[in-house]
Amino acid sequence: MYNVKSLKAEEFISHEEIKSTVAYAEENKNNLDLVDQILEKAKLRKGLSHKEASVLLACDNEEKNQEIYKLAEQIKKDFYGNRIVLFAPLYLSNYCVNGCVYCPYHYKNKHITRKKLTQEEIKRETMALQDMGHKRLVLETGEDPINNPIEYVLESIKTIYSIKHKNGAIRRVNINIAATTVENYRKLKQADVGTYILFQETYNKESYEKLHPTGPKHDYAYHTEAMDRAMEGGIDDVGIGVLFGLEGYQYEFAGLMMHAEHLEAACGVGPHTISVPRIRQADDIDPSSFDNGIDDDTFAKIVACIRITVPYTGMIISTRESQACRERVLHLGVSQISGGSKTSVGGYVEPEAENEKSEQFDVTDTRTLDEIVAWLMGMGYIPSFCTACYREGRTGDRFMSLCKSGEIQNCCDPNALMTLKEYLQDYASAETKEIGEELILKQAPHIPKEKVREIVYRNLKEIEDGKRDFRF
Ligand code: SF4
Ligand code: SF4
Repeated sequence: MYNVKSLKAEEFISHEEIKSTVAYAEENKNNLDLVDQILEKAKLRKGLSHKEASVLLACDNEEKNQEIYKLAEQIKKDFYGNRIVLFAPLYLSNYCVNGCVYCPYHYKNKHITRKKLTQEEIKRETMALQDMGHKRLVLETGEDPINNPIEYVLESIKTIYSIKHKNGAIRRVNINIAATTVENYRKLKQADVGTYILFQETYNKESYEKLHPTGPKHDYAYHTEAMDRAMEGGIDDVGIGVLFGLEGYQYEFAGLMMHAEHLEAACGVGPHTISVPRIRQADDIDPSSFDNGIDDDTFAKIVACIRITVPYTGMIISTRESQACRERVLHLGVSQISGGSKTSVGGYVEPEAENEKSEQFDVTDTRTLDEIVAWLMGMGYIPSFCTACYREGRTGDRFMSLCKSGEIQNCCDPNALMTLKEYLQDYASAETKEIGEELILKQAPHIPKEKVREIVYRNLKEIEDGKRDFRF
């Protein structure tokens, strides 16, 4: 029985509710009066239910679809302006005891090179990431209580925060590790992690169990209830997502939206971010063996519908996607992207030898961070290295209320310009620097509050003089 507030996975992600939602959406995909009503509600920017959102996703009327895209674009502009926050993944270890059939780290894969970074290697990786200009990382590890216990993860976080190399610093460490206990989430919170990210992979329990035949991850309920435990442990910024391609996308979309509704109803705060990965080619993995792959049009529609349904939730797209695909969906709702990423263990310091492969998936967008920054600016976006909210204690419901009132904009724009300026001073190529300086000159006068604008101009000057880390 569906119950949004229940703490039981099979009740807040009820299979029957998803099935009836998908059927309802299919029945109503040409019900233009209903689509209009839902669009009117969406224009209030207070979000939609999973049922309403699923009707928009199913709608196959071209004119209405154009309205959906237009509204997503407008909501993106209203809530996120033209900023795009940048981050990079850092793979600590690819030892894993799970048997996930779509991931090359599954324990049966004997030809992938297994690696685990030492603290010394983590230092070097962190310095390499700082030298690229990154300020925000997502740590990734496989699940392995012997090789990657929580103590190892905690020590690694401490190491990363402690490295101050030249003008660099990692100011926010997000983390993507296996579902764990409330006690471990509490330890992670105490270690100053930003967002806890965990992808559901698929919300369909039957498929989930088949795709995760062995290992602790096989337990659907334990995995699905992880965010509730993370919240109980004090991590109030959580990031959810599914791996599109494993199950029917309509099913996953409804499940994703139900998960967001559940977190809001049961924990008082919805997800901080939603990621939209699609299954990719990797060692031992052939994406064509999964028959639910989605094309770029469907992918764009999903992004637009998520944007409309949860306007306050950040949306992430990684280098799994090509430049062309990222370009297509950025304006529809994506607020964060990775850049210059390596998905191998230790890949930032030196490229892996041909006979030594530890990657989780093949990166499609292989451009450098500098190229990504220049590309974003060329399209009129402001690349942002901002990490201010977590450091100012703006997390969970405090963050969400600032988002909902729109007040957060008074912080985001100035922080984007100041962190971009730092990037240009310390890491950019001459060409990128020139484009960036022009962009800052053009954007700074648009900061609405005079007082804030004055402070930004002063800080920009101080950054030129060598000072760092200003924030609102
Ligand atoms: S998806 Fe995660 S848990 Fe599964 S095999 Fe890969 S690293 Fe391990
Ligand atoms: S001010 Fe907060 S919400 Fe805005 S970009 Fe920075 S960290 Fe993100």
